Amino acid sequence: MGLKLEKENKHIQQLDRRQMLKKSGLLLAAAPFYFGLKSCVSGAKKTLDADVIIVGAGLAGLNAALLLEQAGFKIKVVEATDRLGGRVHTAKESDVPGHPELGGNGIGGGYARVLDAAQKYGVSMGPMRPRTEARKGELIYRIKNNFILPQDWPAHELNTLPEGYRSGTPAYVTWRHFGKINPLPKNDLAAWRDPKYREWDKSVYGVLKKEGFSDDDIKLVMGTNSSYGVDAQNISIMMYFQILTWIGQQNASTGKGGAIVGGNQRLPEAMGAAVNQDIMLNSPVKSIASEADATTITLDNGNSLRASYCLVTLPASALRHIQMSPSPKGMQQKGIQNLDYTPVVQLHFIPRKKYWEEDGLPPSMWCDNLAGRFMALKNDLRDPERVTSCVAFLNSNVALEIDKMKQADAIALVTKTLEEMRPSLKGALDFVYYWTWVNNPYAGGAYAYWKPGEISSFANKLADPIGRIHFAGEHTAVMNRGMEGAMESGERAAFDLMTLIG
Ligand SMILES: Cc1cc2nc3c(=O)[nH]c(=O)nc-3n(C[C@H](O)[C@H](O)[C@H](O)COP(=O)(O)OP(=O)(O)OC[C@H]3O[C@@H](n4cnc5c(N)ncnc54)[C@H](O)[C@@H]3O)c2cc1C
Repeated sequence: MGLKLEKENKHIQQLDRRQMLKKSGLLLAAAPFYFGLKSCVSGAKKTLDADVIIVGAGLAGLNAALLLEQAGFKIKVVEATDRLGGRVHTAKESDVPGHPELGGNGIGGGYARVLDAAQKYGVSMGPMRPRTEARKGELIYRIKNNFILPQDWPAHELNTLPEGYRSGTPAYVTWRHFGKINPLPKNDLAAWRDPKYREWDKSVYGVLKKEGFSDDDIKLVMGTNSSYGVDAQNISIMMYFQILTWIGQQNASTGKGGAIVGGNQRLPEAMGAAVNQDIMLNSPVKSIASEADATTITLDNGNSLRASYCLVTLPASALRHIQMSPSPKGMQQKGIQNLDYTPVVQLHFIPRKKYWEEDGLPPSMWCDNLAGRFMALKNDLRDPERVTSCVAFLNSNVALEIDKMKQADAIALVTKTLEEMRPSLKGALDFVYYWTWVNNPYAGGAYAYWKPGEISSFANKLADPIGRIHFAGEHTAVMNRGMEGAMESGERAAFDLMTLIG
């Protein structure tokens, strides 16, 4: 199942050594000795709450917690919210029928760690649950106040895109070009951070201008329902190269991806259930101090915890609200302060009637207005043709604009937009659930995106330890992205800590 990547295997080999030790009883035998020795050596250390306090119970934090615990270390996990999973978050069935994913959705066939964890902690893989990509024949575009079927778009009079980019959903047409000019070697997943390629850490905008795109065209393909960032000026083409190289590896893998049956959140829940030591929910961390021989973690409620080391797995957007001592310096500080996260806001509806049968148009829409990607979701495994709910999945500037509004006003505005552009939707939608990743102090957006110059200046600095404070989380991953990236980062940090603690 695993990715056969030499560099990744380094960690796996280390894990195997630990597992072998554990199997042979050596590690278990060593653990009491280790803790016993510690308490003899230093009276002060007796007061420590753990060897490692892990801040954040997303996939990065939970993976690190499990690896450290299984290697015999004393750990404690501290999580701000009342649930496990962070940006892996499945809606409750009682909130939205079909319990769509609010966060991490697709699990690739090459997600070796995620798939291993699913198997190990007893959750099953099922089919992928399309969310922002409609099935073939189920999508229509809404561009400049016109409904246009995908097959009519290439020759449509409103299509001003340069030759070679005229077919396909506008948000995806540039990928073909990015693929053609990708300078990164196919089998080197870490190359995107190599200073050798730094000349490519530049804006997508300039690249598209050279290809003959007008500013309006660039807005359509990069600033409308874009899965990454907000606009072409503020995103590095190097990030697209990384994604393409990584997708190439994913596609080459023989593993079987999809989604977790019952919702992806069942995975972090199962991982959390396998952690034997403390996981403290509803415990936002306010400050972290690294001292000569320990770290002190202070919670919002004023309580504090002490451990030899602290592993912080928060996205940079949440980390910048934590007071750290010593404070980050130089490029690391710049990265923590500036790394931005893709804005995503979702409005969920239940269709009261089959509006698509009434007007004969496809049920899902890719819109250049406030309705974003309006998708009819089919999330009933027993009845895969049934529309269980609809989502207006908003990205880019639209998500930022909606996020600033009062929720009731935002819901009214999106509903009005939908009803005005498509009369069959009038009175057809019951609003049921609103979710924002932007206006969320513990996330600050969906996932990191890199602006021009950021990869070459601070990508390699974000995970540098500050004294006894270590870092993990999706934004620190080198070889992978998304959920697998989070797992990779937790694993890397856990092994670093094991080496340090002994
Ligand atoms: C809309 C969306 C779509 C996505 N789609 C995909 C996809 O299709 N495939 C894919 O692989 N990935 C996808 N991802 C990305 C993936 O979900 C994330 O990369 C991954 O879950 C991040 O895990 P993490 O552990 O690094 O961070 P998080 O999951 O964010 O974990 C950090 C934890 O820290 C907690 N925290 C924050 N502040 C504090 C504090 N002050 N004190 C204590 N705890 C705190 C948070 O509550 C959270 O639980 C998507 C994400 C989103 C939001």
